[in-house]
Amino acid sequence: MKAARVHERGKIVIEEVPVPEVGEKEVLIAVHRVGICGTDVGVVGGHVSATYPVTLGHEYSGVVAKLGSPRLTPHLKEGDPVVSSGGWGCGECELCRQGMDLYCTNRRSLGRNVDGCMAEYIKVDYRSVSKLPPAISLDEAQNIVNIGCSVRAVRKLDLAKIKTAAVIGPGNAGLMILQLLKMGGVERVVMAGTRDFRLEMARRFGADEVVNIRREDPVKRIRGWFPHGVDAVCESSGTTGGLQSAFDVVRSNGSVVVFSIITEKMQEFDPSFLYLKEPIIYGSKGAAGAFPEAIRLLEEKKLQILPMITHRFPLAETAKAFQVFADKVADALRIVIDVRP
Ligand SMILES: [Zn+2]
Ligand SMILES: [Zn+2]
Repeated sequence: MKAARVHERGKIVIEEVPVPEVGEKEVLIAVHRVGICGTDVGVVGGHVSATYPVTLGHEYSGVVAKLGSPRLTPHLKEGDPVVSSGGWGCGECELCRQGMDLYCTNRRSLGRNVDGCMAEYIKVDYRSVSKLPPAISLDEAQNIVNIGCSVRAVRKLDLAKIKTAAVIGPGNAGLMILQLLKMGGVERVVMAGTRDFRLEMARRFGADEVVNIRREDPVKRIRGWFPHGVDAVCESSGTTGGLQSAFDVVRSNGSVVVFSIITEKMQEFDPSFLYLKEPIIYGSKGAAGAFPEAIRLLEEKKLQILPMITHRFPLAETAKAFQVFADKVADALRIVIDVRP
């Protein structure tokens, strides 16, 4: 089968590899749609930890090709449309046994330390697989990991008490968080970002105000609208600048959810606001526990997913797809690789 793999930093190759053999606790999935995520770009670039050589990708949809043990997966059969989480714990360590497998230090992460989904087939742990209801298309389902991550992030907040919010970073996940905040009844949501076309999309998805931080100081602008700051800020830009803005625009005793992996170091950090403002700061990692709700949201057509897909490429053009993702000038948002037509 064909797979998009990385052997050395900065280089994606399409190569012929054997179809994975499934063990008893594994499921083989024929991959249909894959979305490119910033984490995949980090794997190629070397700033997200990964074990080379590795097949890229962790956000996808497909159909069951083979069950390692039908006895373990009575709810699945060959041909079922499915998605899986982006990884799973070892199942044996203390954290895994306590149900905290997302913190497992021996975690298997697709496209990082086990082969991912930018290939014709992928094998995954049977516990990571979720069956899709018929109402959900494979085009929509490719984004399930991000929807789950966004659901988990927004769950940190007590939405009944939040009237105003800011989202920093109108990427795929930021736009999902925006939709979830509006759906949860937040009256005014501001989106801050660097690209006008993404900010326009944020408007279409319900943002009450948008600010382009290339042209305006987001802190001044948001403070202009909300002199005491906003009740909650979700940082999804993955930058230290975004994080600093989040600390600067959250109101006293408000909440900040740090949703993204920020790989750069903070040059300056003034911690006095922790005392002065008493903010509540949450981290949110992955989609643990949020898949059922993510599937329900898709099934009930509550989220706008398809308008986010701006580009599509065949598997053979994966390297080109990554170039478009990295090109900050291209109006790219969700780039999908069509592994099968
Ligand atoms: Zn991802
Ligand atoms: Zn473990």
